Amino acid sequence: MSTPPSNRINLLDLSLPEIEDLVERWGEPRYRGRQIYRRIYVNLAASVAEMHELPGRLRGRIEAETTVGNLDCAGSQSGDGGLTRKQLFRLPEGEAVESVLMIYPDRATVCVSSQAGCPMGCVFCATGKLGFLRNLTTAQIVEQVLWAARTTRTIVESPACEAHGLGRVPRPVDSPKNLTNVVFMGMGEAFNNYDAWWKSVERLHDPDGFNMGARSFTVSTVGLVPGIRRLGEESLPVNLAVSLHAADDELRTRLMPVNKAFPVRVLLEATRDYAKKTGRRVSFEYVLLQEQNDGVEHAERLADELSNGPLGDCRTLIHVNLIPWNPVPGTPLSRSGKNRVLAFQDVLRKASIPCTVRVERGVEIGAACGQLAGT
Ligand code: SAH
Ligand code: SF4
Repeated sequence: MSTPPSNRINLLDLSLPEIEDLVERWGEPRYRGRQIYRRIYVNLAASVAEMHELPGRLRGRIEAETTVGNLDCAGSQSGDGGLTRKQLFRLPEGEAVESVLMIYPDRATVCVSSQAGCPMGCVFCATGKLGFLRNLTTAQIVEQVLWAARTTRTIVESPACEAHGLGRVPRPVDSPKNLTNVVFMGMGEAFNNYDAWWKSVERLHDPDGFNMGARSFTVSTVGLVPGIRRLGEESLPVNLAVSLHAADDELRTRLMPVNKAFPVRVLLEATRDYAKKTGRRVSFEYVLLQEQNDGVEHAERLADELSNGPLGDCRTLIHVNLIPWNPVPGTPLSRSGKNRVLAFQDVLRKASIPCTVRVERGVEIGAACGQLAGT
């Protein structure tokens, strides 16, 4: 008799040793566990039906008592000529989360969610407007990446992709997956769900399985200092991005309530310690909001804070990424005009702070930074 789906073991919640333990408890040899694990993470099997090498008895039991993931694909949209895909997933409890896959000539990046909604309340962000709904489990974070890896494979092999000259995303020799980068910049704040999130990084990094290099991951934080400090202690060198958006406390608190708990100086000190300890470059994200934080005076304040503040003696380790604000319906803000963006960038450049303007994907399908609201 088969177990109701909600009571089944979600195989994506289990590490390799845990799957080996499971099959052993069922009276099967441990190597069967490895076969299952490799089917999921190397062959990207979405269901047990694809695990052909397993004996019928074991397959039957896995089919009846486990699932490979528990997210429901509830709709997808595509933009940028099919090279950007936004996928809506429904959690078993009903909330929605989204992932966005972006194919470039030399890489394929997925932006995944770590929470349904977000408790941080940044005024410019669509996810923030939802408030906190639920933390995602490790399995649910991993599942979004597996979806992206499967989808990348189908997209890069499609004629449309070849037509764009984009059929050349590097393919690791020993596996069919073509996804090259994972960014935790979707819905939610990963450091608010640190344990489940970090386990997902470890799982996806596992050389016995999905085998994604640590430097292929980037996590963006609103500025939760304890999370930055904890990340500095981890053994895997993932990339860190810090959402700054203003260099003075009064303005930053108005845009991002988290600044009351972790003001600019405290955040910059933690970022400095992280950069020094790890030797890794940190990027600062700065959303440009017309007439709010995008003036030359704001750029000068930012340049001064980065040059003469806590990070002054490790300036080679920082980079600023400007993000012209993406519209969020019902929000009384507007996107900075091009001239203001260029003037802002110019101030930073003159202060010798490396600074780029993010080229957005998926704006027309509501899939760009800060637009994800599960709709
Ligand atoms: N919670 C994390 C990661 C998710 S948001 C964080 O806040 O860093 C990813 C990035 O998009 C952050 O830098 C965030 O500030 C930015 N962002 C949020 N809303 C945006 C919007 N409407 N337009 C452009 N960027 C936005
Ligand atoms: Fe949450 Fe990040 Fe949006 Fe702020 S910007 S509300 S932290 S998802």
